[in-house]
Amino acid sequence: MKKVKLTKETSANEAVSTNLRSQLRFSSETGEIWLHEQRMLLVHADSHAKLRRELIETLGMDRARSTIMRIGYATGISDCELTQINRDRTNDHESFMAGPLLFTLEGNAKTTIPKLEINRKMGKFYVEALLENSWESQAYLRHYGESTEGVCWYLHGYSSGYCSAFMGKPILCKEVKCFAAGANHCYLVGKPVEEWDDSSDFSLMLNQESIADQLIGLQNQVVHLRSAMGGKTKLPSDIVGNSPAFLAAYELLSQAAGSQINVLLQGETGVGKEVFARTLHEKGARCKESFIAINCAAIPHDLVESELFGVEKGAFTGAHASRPGRFERANGGTLFLDEVGDLPLSAQAKLLRVLQEGEVERLGGTKTHKVDVRLVAATNVDLRQLVEKGKFRSDLYYRLNALQIYIPPLRERKLDILLLAKNFLKKFSAINGKKLRGFSDKAKLALLAYQWPGNIRELQNVVERGVMLAPNGTHITINHMFPSYRNDGHGEFALDIKGGLSAHQEASGENFCDAILSGKITMEQANDVLANAAVEKAKGNLSAAARMLGLTRAQLAYRLEHQHDNAIVKSIRSRKKSHLSGHPLK
Ligand SMILES: [Zn+2]
Repeated sequence: MKKVKLTKETSANEAVSTNLRSQLRFSSETGEIWLHEQRMLLVHADSHAKLRRELIETLGMDRARSTIMRIGYATGISDCELTQINRDRTNDHESFMAGPLLFTLEGNAKTTIPKLEINRKMGKFYVEALLENSWESQAYLRHYGESTEGVCWYLHGYSSGYCSAFMGKPILCKEVKCFAAGANHCYLVGKPVEEWDDSSDFSLMLNQESIADQLIGLQNQVVHLRSAMGGKTKLPSDIVGNSPAFLAAYELLSQAAGSQINVLLQGETGVGKEVFARTLHEKGARCKESFIAINCAAIPHDLVESELFGVEKGAFTGAHASRPGRFERANGGTLFLDEVGDLPLSAQAKLLRVLQEGEVERLGGTKTHKVDVRLVAATNVDLRQLVEKGKFRSDLYYRLNALQIYIPPLRERKLDILLLAKNFLKKFSAINGKKLRGFSDKAKLALLAYQWPGNIRELQNVVERGVMLAPNGTHITINHMFPSYRNDGHGEFALDIKGGLSAHQEASGENFCDAILSGKITMEQANDVLANAAVEKAKGNLSAAARMLGLTRAQLAYRLEHQHDNAIVKSIRSRKKSHLSGHPLK
């Protein structure tokens, strides 16, 4: 055996390399490969080369070059993030070397670094990289023969992206020698953009004006124009959603806005009832007048009447001055009564009288004041049940409930979760002055798997926490958002049951989430399990099952016809029927 001299540097490199390898997981059962929290692909270099050739032939050499450079640049940034997780920031040299090692591990080229002068604090950077067996140069030679200039575009973009992300400033790496142009190997030099005479390649790497982007932009415009022409619902910025259940509620709201009908908003805590009420006000004829909101559950019972109807001086001890109530203040506009089920019976009687007569009498007063108010009430309990128990007046109930709009909980709007999360990400990044790169793939799966008992408000809080905890320039990972997730050391995620499974959920839910989050079953397969469960629950009624899932009947029927069978999915299906064991899925 050859004796290896173990210098300090090679042992550090080996440690980095071992660490990177340990982040790599192949899951043959689900058809996924993970590197830390990013999904990877193992593809044939040859098919990649064919794709490259097709790009050259359809887009032309220059556009193909800048497209491939940009893909490389973006990958370099992602790999910098991957390699710098939990890395010691004090040793720039050692931290930097993780990049070339990963690049080598990914099979791009054997990369060695003959020269590296680096100091992140001072912003100083110079690198030379020697690349052997570059797959790009080999592919080019095979398809086109010898070139007169460097052809390793991906490499060129990748190294620039990696170095720029690492230094936190623009670094351009250029290929000064290329195997495809007759050199023994490819050779790169990298330094800050301003130190190059010609740095036009760098703007190509950032340039968004590629032909593909232009096409996508035009395509989006067409979709947008089409939907505008079709009179499709246009949503205001703080109401977001695409799921059928949500759009149905919004459509009803839009219709109600044009009339004066009393609207009762029904939905769980945190689904956005106040946003709906405000939207109703803003879309209606009263939009120039005030919108006054009051949460009946938040005000002590003995004060709620004076809050609503106002008080005259001396009406009771402590009433030192006369003041109008919310009804008078909302005159001409809209009054939003949240948690209306918590209103005490005496206040209910007064409220009914105000609605019938269109005038209020302040507490302790004798004069009446005319009021013209549109009332929007909201509740998270079933008012009809309160009526049956004698806790809510039936005449008031019918008065408030002229039109009921049911706002679905977030778990019935799976389609909207990532949309909303992205919106909150944008909002909180702006507030906190942060630049983040979105959610990691696993974080997205976790957002979709979670049950959201606190609905949109909870989602907002979770994303806000993620934005706060994720370092600048990185992706938000599961742990930034859900501290109760734990990594059990075998690369599997476990979900703390308190973290999200509502009490009525089936006991297999925890295992189900585990199976998704650890990559044992894919979201596709999880959807199949959900679809089957809904059909079972609806006793075979497809329309009812589709409603539970927030799908149309046709969508559900299609899904049932195209199921992705898998042993684990089957085991979850059969487990639901038989005994529920506490063991994780094997
Ligand atoms: Zn080359």
